[in-house]
Amino acid sequence: MPLIIKKSDFVKSATNPSHFPDDIYSEFCFAGKSNVGKSSMLNKICNRKKLAITSKTPGRTQLINFFIINNNMSFVDIPGYGFANVPKNIMLSWEKMIINYLENRKNISAMFIAVDIRRGIEKLDKTMITLCQNYNIKTNIIITKSDKVSKSERSIMKQKVKKELQEFNNVSNIETFSSKNGDGVSEVLEIIGDLRN
Ligand code: GDP
Repeated sequence: MPLIIKKSDFVKSATNPSHFPDDIYSEFCFAGKSNVGKSSMLNKICNRKKLAITSKTPGRTQLINFFIINNNMSFVDIPGYGFANVPKNIMLSWEKMIINYLENRKNISAMFIAVDIRRGIEKLDKTMITLCQNYNIKTNIIITKSDKVSKSERSIMKQKVKKELQEFNNVSNIETFSSKNGDGVSEVLEIIGDLRN
């Protein structure tokens, strides 16, 4: 059954597990390189204009954002990775924060990793998928901005991503998505609906 989102509310931002909200609800996480269209995707599936807000500032303190959906499930916006020229120490603190989150959060149902259709899977995406694999987290790949390419290019990229990720045992669905024309929205809601408990 596809998820029907009737209500979505921001709960809090945190970096440290001691500040995370209670882990009582099934949680779905959204990650991806900065500028990949992750905030637009969250806004689109929640049918909200400004639920998730992007920061375009490289290297600023980035926080994990928690949202509550329909008063009974949880979405998490993981700060974007891969800003150009980010100092190594910032990258390391990002990774430490994410590991801390993945390790401590017992209610994670699935991860969605957004990748840009014109770029495909990049090194940091594989790092993120590996982290999820290490914690046995079901991972879905959302290929964003699908409106920017032709229909045939969409299916070519889908196949390419599928082939590139064969080595991972945690990747389940690969879908194209567009927050401009709604491609993939129902598929994402279907995946979430199927996995929630
Ligand atoms: P984030 O940094 O991953 O949260 O990315 P944003 O959601 O802020 O989007 C980054 C840029 O890509 C913005 O200029 C958006 O308008 C644009 N964008 C996001 N999603 C889409 C999409 O589906 N199609 C197109 N054409 N542009 C998009």
